[in-house]
Amino acid sequence: MHYIPYGRQDINEDDINAVIEVLKSDFLTTGPKVLEFEEKFAKYVGAKYAVAMANGTAALHIACLAAGIKEGDEVITSPITFAASANCVLYCGAKPVFADIDPITYNIDCKSVESLITDKTKAIIPVHYTGQPCDMDEIHRIAKKYNLIVIEDAAHAVGAEYKGKKIGALSDMTEFSFHPVKHITSGEGGIVTTNDEKLYEKLKLYRTHGITRNPDEMSKYDGPWYYEQIGLGYNYRITDFQCALGMSQLKRIDKFLKRRREIAKKYNEAFEKVDGITIPAQMEGTNSAYHLYVIKVDKSIRRQLFEFLRENNIGVNVHYIPVYTFPYYRENGYKDVRCENAEELYESIISLPMYYGLTDEEQDYVIEKVKSFL
Ligand SMILES: *Cc1c(COP(=O)(O)O)cnc(C)c1O
Repeated sequence: MHYIPYGRQDINEDDINAVIEVLKSDFLTTGPKVLEFEEKFAKYVGAKYAVAMANGTAALHIACLAAGIKEGDEVITSPITFAASANCVLYCGAKPVFADIDPITYNIDCKSVESLITDKTKAIIPVHYTGQPCDMDEIHRIAKKYNLIVIEDAAHAVGAEYKGKKIGALSDMTEFSFHPVKHITSGEGGIVTTNDEKLYEKLKLYRTHGITRNPDEMSKYDGPWYYEQIGLGYNYRITDFQCALGMSQLKRIDKFLKRRREIAKKYNEAFEKVDGITIPAQMEGTNSAYHLYVIKVDKSIRRQLFEFLRENNIGVNVHYIPVYTFPYYRENGYKDVRCENAEELYESIISLPMYYGLTDEEQDYVIEKVKSFL
């Protein structure tokens, strides 16, 4: 069998033509496609506003700035995530605090979140790991009780549903990523959605250096050429051709999701009765977007199974290594941090191939190889 990656993009002729069209236009960046993409994406998730940025990490960073997260603040997130979910807090000079995960959903455990709240806690960044929505009602209850901001890391969760609503308009802000392994891609890219006009204005401000052209926000008005820098932001802009690609991809999101859910169903059916494999939990009232399909096996065989699958040309992966165990974190204040469930999960998981273009034959081959090992 040829090599089967764990994830990959789907690019068609329409995508290619959409990019070419922009390359021939007047604007390569900060033209009409950015706003058009933002409006279409916001509409898709049911949010009022969206601000597109250079990548998902930049989107998280700007969301933290817009939330006013700064030195001395603490922000609670999950250790079972890509480093970006915690790094964005460090970029603001604040401290990420890692809550343990729930051993069934693998998402942040709300009891652990509540136990870690101090008078410095400013925000919670729940991560919808694999596309399975977190317990948002409980997270919102905690946030309300302690007056915290909620920024959802929904990099895995384009199209995921919580109690009949799409992820993207439930909290103060929600971040998505358009990296090629995610549901839709713009090459690199990310977006923050919100229903709050003030946050929307701040997101736009910090995306471009903290520079405003709105006279209402300026200390004085010097003429029609005049702009002012009123905060310290970054250049996290996304290009027009990336947004054209993102928009073209967004047209196929329903197809992409349907196929991912089909693949998950087939894996579930193949593995649910296999001794030694735990399939992902499906929580009532939620509809996972299945960015990843993660199986759990006994930790004594995880490594051999991983190597066996790689030897058989299956590009399995492990998502994720608990963030606080990285040397950078260990050396910078996280020496003694321990999240038992997160470490237990990390030792037992393997991500199997999961993407729109995975064929039935390829999936059958993956299933057969996993079963043959056990
Ligand atoms: C992909 C991802 C991000 C953002 O990543 P970028 O590569 O910067 O777009 C953030 N959080 C999680 C959990 C992710 O998987």
